[in-house]
Amino acid sequence: MAKENPFVLDPWVGRRRFTREVSVGSVGVGGDNPIRLQSMTNTDTMDSRATVDQIERLVAAGCEIARVTAPSIRDAENLRVIRTMLNERGVEVPLVADIHFTPNAAMIAADCVEKVRVNPGNYADKKKFEVREYTDQEYADELSRVGDRFRPLVLRCKQNGVAMRIGTNHGSLSDRVMNRYGDSPRGMVESALEFLDVCEAESYYDVIFSMKASNAHVAIQAYRLLAARLHARGGELPSYPFHLGVTEAGDAEDGRIKSAIGIGSLLEDGIGDTIRVSLTEDPVREIPVAEKIARRAEQAWLSDTHRASPALGVALAMDPFVHQRRETTRVQMGKLGAGGSEPVRVELELDDPIALAGSTKSLREFLAALESVPGIACESLLLSLSGSEFASSFIEIAETLGELGSDLPLSMRISARSLGANFEFPSECARVVVDVTLEDSAESLARIAGVAAQSGTVLEYCLRVELDELAVLVDRILKTIPEDPQAVLGFSLEGPPAAHGVRLLASLLEDRGAGHKGIVLRHSLVRGADNEADLIEASIAMGGPLCDGFGDILSLRNFSDPASALDLSYRILQGARLRTTRTEYISCPSCGRTLFDLEDTTARIKSVTSHLKGVKIAVMGCIVNGPGEMADADFGYVGSGPGVVTLYAGQQVVARNIPEQDAPDRLLALIADHDS
Ligand code: SF4
Repeated sequence: MAKENPFVLDPWVGRRRFTREVSVGSVGVGGDNPIRLQSMTNTDTMDSRATVDQIERLVAAGCEIARVTAPSIRDAENLRVIRTMLNERGVEVPLVADIHFTPNAAMIAADCVEKVRVNPGNYADKKKFEVREYTDQEYADELSRVGDRFRPLVLRCKQNGVAMRIGTNHGSLSDRVMNRYGDSPRGMVESALEFLDVCEAESYYDVIFSMKASNAHVAIQAYRLLAARLHARGGELPSYPFHLGVTEAGDAEDGRIKSAIGIGSLLEDGIGDTIRVSLTEDPVREIPVAEKIARRAEQAWLSDTHRASPALGVALAMDPFVHQRRETTRVQMGKLGAGGSEPVRVELELDDPIALAGSTKSLREFLAALESVPGIACESLLLSLSGSEFASSFIEIAETLGELGSDLPLSMRISARSLGANFEFPSECARVVVDVTLEDSAESLARIAGVAAQSGTVLEYCLRVELDELAVLVDRILKTIPEDPQAVLGFSLEGPPAAHGVRLLASLLEDRGAGHKGIVLRHSLVRGADNEADLIEASIAMGGPLCDGFGDILSLRNFSDPASALDLSYRILQGARLRTTRTEYISCPSCGRTLFDLEDTTARIKSVTSHLKGVKIAVMGCIVNGPGEMADADFGYVGSGPGVVTLYAGQQVVARNIPEQDAPDRLLALIADHDS
């Protein structure tokens, strides 16, 4: 299923995409520069003092580029005042004017800031959600009209040495693009390239791209597709830098998880030069999250610089431009089914179970913690055991759990080496995870497979090996495993970077005719480390492969709090849109157009709707961009004027301009009406 167009030059190693450097004032973006951190103010742009105060706080937190909305000519003109005040305070951060619908404001902004962001979906188009077929001539005429509107800005930016972001958003494609290419990653890319054509025709190259969506899959596919399309266009200069972001990600843990999955997965592949984490919170709180994501990626790039690609001669077993869950054989393990059409299962691994088993009280508390989070359940418990007493230890724990009334499927993890010559797997064991290294001989692996087949035990092989030796171990195991598809759930990895390792493992299995074997995604939390860093690390390590379509079980280890670990696993699955267990909130980060306190309002709406599993609710700050940006929400709560809100069911207005204090209850009633 390999594609001709590379979305990255090497899918097995995290090498940075080669781009030109675009100067945003004194800050270089792309090339060899670090990943630049940026954010956007959410103050009224006409309130110069509040805006300057917020920019100053952002810069103090580490923000390197600050964006300010310019919804009108007056706002654009006020950017000059803001720049002067920042200069007076000695704050030298480059400013970006955020433009939607107002080319006149863009022309003014290009005289007083370092970068202008345009949205190709609405720079010269009004969104009417019209469905119509454009003939080629009509389409060309429209493009010519849009080009005439956009060209003056390109020339002004070129003349002033001002950079530009062509920032496509999934929710705000023009009717013209939607009708021809659909509401899709392809539509997002075509929309941006139409604007690039105008820039290049005027020999203007100070361009940065973004392809944002609230759905991480869509954002990942659009950025990859754009990278591939720009690569295919060739040209003498290196390609253009990318600004990464997941828009309307929301707040708190979910906002961080969605952003980490979308932005972090792209950076793993070397895609991305500047990032903005959009949270429905004080924008200053975005910066530490962005910093963690960026520095993690830079470290990975550094360590991969000298790592040779594992040249194993296999084709990439995924389509990077379409999300499709990898097809695997369903395997029954006790009462738990995994693989096939089963949802991605959630497992917790206890790496020191003996200590827990020694105390019924501790086990009771452990089970109580697992049951403390409503609406989600631990579906499998993996006991990591060692030594010759593994079977008796496992049985002892299984019996204690049984006495406590638990029917939680129990699996066991043990290294191939510690199994010795004579062993049996306990019948209570749902599956055995065998840790395998290159030191394990084909004979010992054959013996393990034979014992498992005799006792009807399902096996998973956890491969502890470097990527360039992965093929040796996979081939050794595949020669020994039984024909019965039920006997082997599949494989997992311990050690290599998750995104590249899992991708290579799946590709090797496909190449060797074992593409139907399941894959378990394993991750160890750092335990005791900063929670936010743990959450980001887990979201990228597990969310990236999930977005690539890989993973039948998520297995999380090294947690200090079982309830939080379980909660995190399900939030990652929801962030990757693979399993819905709670209400989904799509809320914009707010900006100078926002007509109410978005953070407070989102909290109020959450408090009355958080029990509505699977419902997608959008909370958007303004009527100008909100309805378009909340593309796939079931219900929308959109600020439509000072103190008033308009409610939507899908894209339909159902209550216009209702007082803000009544709006959360009216929203709840609206959802109840639709449910009945
Ligand atoms: S939807 Fe939110 S972030 Fe977007 S323009 Fe409107 S208020 Fe600003």
